[in-house]
Amino acid sequence: MASPSPKTCASCGRRIAPSELYYRFTLILQGEQDVLDTPGGGQGDELASILRQLEADPKDPREWEEQVHWERTGVICTACRAVVMRTLAPPSGDAGPH
Ligand SMILES: [Zn+2]
Repeated sequence: MASPSPKTCASCGRRIAPSELYYRFTLILQGEQDVLDTPGGGQGDELASILRQLEADPKDPREWEEQVHWERTGVICTACRAVVMRTLAPPSGDAGPH
């Protein structure tokens, strides 16, 4: 029936042909902090200070909200899938002690 809509790789911007394999993704970056009170370090309360900024400076709340919660869905091509998986893989993978 309807031809598949043309897709663009969200990472490299390349057009993905309808006959090509692609990968759908949902990426959510949710700000969290396990320890909210760091004695002696001025930087401890980052998440709380972001939320304070959000209240104190509402002229551009979207930007501050994205500091706490950012999500995106889309598709990526096979080449970018390999890059993404390498980026997110634990660093211990190919640099073994042997
Ligand atoms: Zn790509």
